[in-house]
Amino acid sequence: MQFIDLSSTISNQTIEPVSPKIKYVNHKKGGTLLGLASLLSKKSFLYTLRNFIFYCFGINRVRAGDFPDGMGLAWEDIKLGTHTGTHLDAPWHFGPSCNGKSAKTIDEVPLEWCYGDGVVLDLRHKRPGSLITKEDIQLALQNINYDIKKGDIVLIMTGARRYAQDEKYLLAHPGMSKEAVLWLVEKGIKIIGTDGWGFDRSFRRMVREYSKTKENKNLWPAHLAGREKEYCHIETMANLDKIPKAYGFKIICFPIKLKAASAAWIRPVAVIE
Ligand SMILES: [Zn+2]
Repeated sequence: MQFIDLSSTISNQTIEPVSPKIKYVNHKKGGTLLGLASLLSKKSFLYTLRNFIFYCFGINRVRAGDFPDGMGLAWEDIKLGTHTGTHLDAPWHFGPSCNGKSAKTIDEVPLEWCYGDGVVLDLRHKRPGSLITKEDIQLALQNINYDIKKGDIVLIMTGARRYAQDEKYLLAHPGMSKEAVLWLVEKGIKIIGTDGWGFDRSFRRMVREYSKTKENKNLWPAHLAGREKEYCHIETMANLDKIPKAYGFKIICFPIKLKAASAAWIRPVAVIE
Protein backbone atom coordinates (compact mmCIF):
# COMPACT_ATOMS: atom_id res chain seq x y z
CA MET A 1 0.00 0.00 0.00
CA GLN A 2 1.31 3.45 -0.90
CA PHE A 3 0.39 6.71 0.83
CA ILE A 4 0.81 10.00 -1.04
CA ASP A 5 0.73 13.16 1.04
CA LEU A 6 -1.42 15.73 -0.78
CA SER A 7 -0.93 18.53 1.74
CA SER A 8 1.29 21.60 1.68
CA THR A 9 3.62 22.30 4.60
CA ILE A 10 2.59 25.13 6.91
CA SER A 11 5.56 27.22 8.02
CA ASN A 12 6.47 30.84 8.71
CA GLN A 13 7.60 30.95 5.06
CA THR A 14 4.26 29.77 3.59
CA ILE A 15 3.10 32.15 0.86
CA GLU A 16 -0.24 33.62 1.97
CA PRO A 17 -1.70 37.15 2.03
CA VAL A 18 -1.51 36.92 5.85
CA SER A 19 1.45 34.73 6.81
CA PRO A 20 1.18 32.07 9.51
CA LYS A 21 2.99 32.86 12.74
CA ILE A 22 4.48 29.82 14.43
CA LYS A 23 6.35 30.52 17.67
CA TYR A 24 8.56 27.60 18.60
CA VAL A 25 9.09 26.95 22.32
CA ASN A 26 12.28 24.88 22.69
CA HIS A 27 12.86 22.09 25.24
CA LYS A 28 14.76 24.33 27.64
CA LYS A 29 12.23 27.16 27.72
CA GLY A 30 9.44 24.58 27.65
CA GLY A 31 10.75 22.99 30.86
CA THR A 32 10.55 26.26 32.78
CA LEU A 33 7.16 27.18 31.32
CA LEU A 34 5.74 23.76 32.32
CA GLY A 35 6.83 24.44 35.89
CA LEU A 36 5.13 27.84 35.80
CA ALA A 37 1.95 26.39 34.24
CA SER A 38 1.61 24.08 37.23
CA LEU A 39 1.07 27.16 39.43
CA LEU A 40 -1.96 28.47 37.58
CA SER A 41 -5.57 28.16 38.63
CA LYS A 42 -8.23 29.58 36.32
CA LYS A 43 -10.73 29.76 39.19
CA SER A 44 -8.67 31.42 41.92
CA PHE A 45 -6.28 34.34 41.51
CA LEU A 46 -5.33 34.04 45.20
CA TYR A 47 -4.39 30.38 44.77
CA THR A 48 -2.18 31.30 41.78
CA LEU A 49 -0.59 34.18 43.72
CA ARG A 50 0.12 31.95 46.71
CA ASN A 51 1.76 29.34 44.43
CA PHE A 52 3.85 32.01 42.76
CA ILE A 53 5.13 33.33 46.10
CA PHE A 54 6.07 29.77 47.10
CA TYR A 55 7.80 29.38 43.71
CA CYS A 56 9.92 32.48 44.41
CA PHE A 57 11.12 30.81 47.61
CA GLY A 58 11.91 27.58 45.76
CA ILE A 59 8.86 25.66 47.00
CA ASN A 60 7.09 23.49 44.39
CA ARG A 61 9.46 24.92 41.79
CA VAL A 62 10.42 23.03 38.63
CA ARG A 63 12.64 24.58 35.98
CA ALA A 64 14.29 23.22 32.81
CA GLY A 65 17.45 22.27 34.74
CA ASP A 66 15.43 19.96 36.98
CA PHE A 67 14.49 17.73 34.01
CA PRO A 68 16.74 14.88 32.83
CA ASP A 69 19.41 16.33 30.47
CA GLY A 70 18.28 19.82 31.54
CA MET A 71 15.45 19.79 29.02
CA GLY A 72 11.69 19.81 29.37
CA LEU A 73 9.22 19.51 26.50
CA ALA A 74 8.99 21.50 23.27
CA TRP A 75 5.80 22.93 21.74
CA GLU A 76 4.53 25.71 19.52
CA ASP A 77 2.09 28.59 19.69
CA ILE A 78 0.43 29.28 16.36
CA LYS A 79 -1.51 32.11 14.79
CA LEU A 80 -3.03 30.65 11.68
CA GLY A 81 -6.13 31.43 9.62
CA THR A 82 -8.47 28.52 8.97
CA HIS A 83 -8.05 29.14 5.23
CA THR A 84 -4.26 28.94 5.33
CA GLY A 85 -2.45 25.85 4.12
CA THR A 86 -4.30 22.80 2.82
CA HIS A 87 -7.83 23.09 4.19
CA LEU A 88 -11.42 22.06 3.61
CA ASP A 89 -14.01 24.80 3.08
CA ALA A 90 -17.35 23.96 4.71
CA PRO A 91 -20.74 25.01 3.25
CA TRP A 92 -20.91 27.72 5.97
CA HIS A 93 -17.98 29.49 4.26
CA PHE A 94 -20.17 30.10 1.20
CA GLY A 95 -23.15 31.53 3.08
CA PRO A 96 -25.28 31.01 6.21
CA SER A 97 -27.75 28.83 4.34
CA CYS A 98 -27.77 26.40 1.45
CA ASN A 99 -30.92 25.87 -0.57
CA GLY A 100 -33.03 27.21 2.31
CA LYS A 101 -31.41 25.09 5.05
CA SER A 102 -28.80 26.17 7.58
CA ALA A 103 -25.35 25.59 6.05
CA LYS A 104 -23.03 23.06 7.68
CA THR A 105 -20.03 24.36 9.60
CA ILE A 106 -16.79 22.37 9.42
CA ASP A 107 -17.53 20.38 12.60
CA GLU A 108 -20.84 19.31 11.03
CA VAL A 109 -19.38 18.01 7.76
CA PRO A 110 -20.10 14.24 7.67
CA LEU A 111 -16.94 12.16 7.88
CA GLU A 112 -18.43 9.91 5.17
CA TRP A 113 -17.89 12.74 2.68
CA CYS A 114 -14.18 12.82 3.51
CA TYR A 115 -13.30 9.27 2.52
CA GLY A 116 -13.94 7.99 -0.97
CA ASP A 117 -12.70 7.00 -4.40
CA GLY A 118 -10.42 9.67 -5.81
CA VAL A 119 -10.23 10.89 -9.40
CA VAL A 120 -7.65 13.35 -10.72
CA LEU A 121 -8.64 15.57 -13.62
CA ASP A 122 -5.74 17.04 -15.59
CA LEU A 123 -6.52 20.70 -16.32
CA ARG A 124 -2.93 21.88 -16.57
CA HIS A 125 -3.59 23.25 -20.06
CA LYS A 126 -5.90 25.93 -18.57
CA ARG A 127 -4.22 29.33 -18.29
CA PRO A 128 -3.79 31.19 -15.00
CA GLY A 129 -6.90 33.26 -14.36
CA SER A 130 -9.07 31.38 -16.87
CA LEU A 131 -12.35 29.68 -16.02
CA ILE A 132 -12.71 25.90 -15.90
CA THR A 133 -16.00 25.19 -17.63
CA LYS A 134 -18.38 22.26 -17.35
CA GLU A 135 -17.17 21.17 -20.80
CA ASP A 136 -13.53 21.22 -19.59
CA ILE A 137 -14.49 18.85 -16.78
CA GLN A 138 -16.45 16.57 -19.11
CA LEU A 139 -13.52 16.45 -21.56
CA ALA A 140 -11.02 15.70 -18.78
CA LEU A 141 -13.25 12.78 -17.73
CA GLN A 142 -13.51 11.54 -21.32
CA ASN A 143 -9.71 11.68 -21.63
CA ILE A 144 -9.36 9.20 -18.79
CA ASN A 145 -12.44 7.19 -19.76
CA TYR A 146 -14.12 7.62 -16.40
CA ASP A 147 -17.74 8.12 -15.40
CA ILE A 148 -18.10 10.14 -12.24
CA LYS A 149 -20.13 8.48 -9.50
CA LYS A 150 -21.75 9.53 -6.23
CA GLY A 151 -19.28 10.04 -3.38
CA ASP A 152 -16.16 10.36 -5.55
CA ILE A 153 -13.62 12.94 -4.41
CA VAL A 154 -12.64 14.92 -7.50
CA LEU A 155 -9.20 16.55 -7.64
CA ILE A 156 -8.56 19.38 -10.08
CA MET A 157 -4.89 19.42 -11.13
CA THR A 158 -4.08 22.93 -12.36
CA GLY A 159 -0.30 22.69 -12.11
CA ALA A 160 -0.23 25.98 -10.17
CA ARG A 161 1.50 24.25 -7.27
CA ARG A 162 4.85 24.57 -9.05
CA TYR A 163 4.84 28.24 -7.97
CA ALA A 164 4.30 27.37 -4.29
CA GLN A 165 7.54 29.09 -3.21
CA ASP A 166 6.63 32.32 -4.99
CA GLU A 167 4.01 35.04 -4.63
CA LYS A 168 2.91 34.03 -8.15
CA TYR A 169 1.15 31.08 -6.50
CA LEU A 170 -1.70 33.36 -5.42
CA LEU A 171 -2.43 34.16 -9.09
CA ALA A 172 -1.25 31.08 -10.98
CA HIS A 173 -4.40 28.96 -11.00
CA PRO A 174 -7.46 28.82 -13.24
CA GLY A 175 -10.73 28.95 -11.26
CA MET A 176 -13.74 26.69 -11.30
CA SER A 177 -16.88 28.10 -12.91
CA LYS A 178 -20.22 27.90 -11.15
CA GLU A 179 -21.58 25.59 -13.89
CA ALA A 180 -18.66 23.16 -13.51
CA VAL A 181 -19.19 22.97 -9.75
CA LEU A 182 -22.96 22.48 -10.01
CA TRP A 183 -22.54 19.80 -12.67
CA LEU A 184 -20.23 17.79 -10.40
CA VAL A 185 -22.38 18.32 -7.30
CA GLU A 186 -25.49 17.20 -9.19
CA LYS A 187 -23.63 13.96 -9.95
CA GLY A 188 -23.34 13.34 -6.21
CA ILE A 189 -19.89 14.83 -5.58
CA LYS A 190 -19.49 16.34 -2.12
CA ILE A 191 -15.79 17.19 -2.16
CA ILE A 192 -13.74 18.78 -4.94
CA GLY A 193 -10.07 19.62 -4.39
CA THR A 194 -7.60 21.85 -6.20
CA ASP A 195 -3.84 22.33 -6.13
CA GLY A 196 -4.44 26.02 -6.86
CA TRP A 197 -4.23 28.52 -4.02
CA GLY A 198 -7.96 29.15 -4.45
CA PHE A 199 -10.94 27.31 -5.90
CA ASP A 200 -12.18 30.39 -7.73
CA ARG A 201 -9.90 32.49 -9.93
CA SER A 202 -7.46 34.81 -8.15
CA PHE A 203 -8.91 37.60 -5.99
CA ARG A 204 -7.15 40.15 -8.19
CA ARG A 205 -8.69 38.77 -11.36
CA MET A 206 -12.24 38.71 -9.97
CA VAL A 207 -12.03 42.16 -8.38
CA ARG A 208 -10.66 43.74 -11.57
CA GLU A 209 -13.36 42.12 -13.64
CA TYR A 210 -16.05 43.29 -11.23
CA SER A 211 -14.79 46.85 -11.25
CA LYS A 212 -15.08 46.83 -15.06
CA THR A 213 -18.42 45.05 -15.44
CA LYS A 214 -20.14 45.68 -12.06
CA GLU A 215 -21.59 42.19 -12.45
CA ASN A 216 -21.50 40.53 -9.06
CA LYS A 217 -22.00 37.07 -10.55
CA ASN A 218 -18.26 37.22 -11.28
CA LEU A 219 -17.37 37.41 -7.59
CA TRP A 220 -16.40 34.00 -6.16
CA PRO A 221 -18.92 32.13 -8.40
CA ALA A 222 -17.62 28.64 -7.56
CA HIS A 223 -17.75 29.32 -3.82
CA LEU A 224 -21.23 30.84 -4.10
CA ALA A 225 -22.48 27.79 -6.03
CA GLY A 226 -22.45 26.27 -2.54
CA ARG A 227 -25.41 28.49 -1.57
CA GLU A 228 -27.51 26.53 -4.10
CA LYS A 229 -26.10 23.01 -3.75
CA GLU A 230 -24.29 21.63 -0.75
CA TYR A 231 -20.64 20.70 -1.23
CA CYS A 232 -17.14 21.31 0.18
CA HIS A 233 -13.85 22.04 -1.53
CA ILE A 234 -10.18 21.65 -0.68
CA GLU A 235 -7.71 24.42 -1.52
CA THR A 236 -3.91 24.48 -1.71
CA MET A 237 -3.32 20.76 -2.26
CA ALA A 238 0.10 19.43 -3.25
CA ASN A 239 1.54 16.45 -5.13
CA LEU A 240 -1.49 15.75 -7.34
CA ASP A 241 1.02 14.96 -10.11
CA LYS A 242 2.58 12.27 -7.88
CA ILE A 243 -0.60 10.15 -7.92
CA PRO A 244 0.33 7.43 -10.45
CA LYS A 245 -3.16 6.92 -11.88
CA ALA A 246 -6.21 9.05 -12.63
CA TYR A 247 -8.57 6.84 -10.60
CA GLY A 248 -8.57 3.57 -8.69
CA PHE A 249 -7.30 4.97 -5.37
CA LYS A 250 -8.83 6.26 -2.15
CA ILE A 251 -8.70 9.76 -0.68
CA ILE A 252 -8.79 10.50 3.04
CA CYS A 253 -9.29 14.14 4.02
CA PHE A 254 -10.77 14.54 7.51
CA PRO A 255 -10.89 18.12 8.87
CA ILE A 256 -9.82 19.21 12.36
CA LYS A 257 -12.96 19.65 14.51
CA LEU A 258 -13.18 23.42 14.98
CA LYS A 259 -16.45 24.51 16.56
CA ALA A 260 -18.75 26.42 14.19
CA ALA A 261 -15.89 27.29 11.81
CA SER A 262 -16.04 27.91 8.06
CA ALA A 263 -13.03 25.69 7.31
CA ALA A 264 -10.30 23.63 8.93
CA TRP A 265 -6.90 22.22 8.11
CA ILE A 266 -6.64 18.76 6.63
CA ARG A 267 -3.88 16.32 5.75
CA PRO A 268 -5.31 14.75 2.58
CA VAL A 269 -3.74 11.46 1.57
CA ALA A 270 -4.12 9.33 -1.55
CA VAL A 271 -4.05 5.63 -0.67
CA ILE A 272 -3.02 3.31 -3.47
CA GLU A 273 -3.42 -0.44 -2.98
ZN1 LIG B 1 -10.79 28.40 1.99
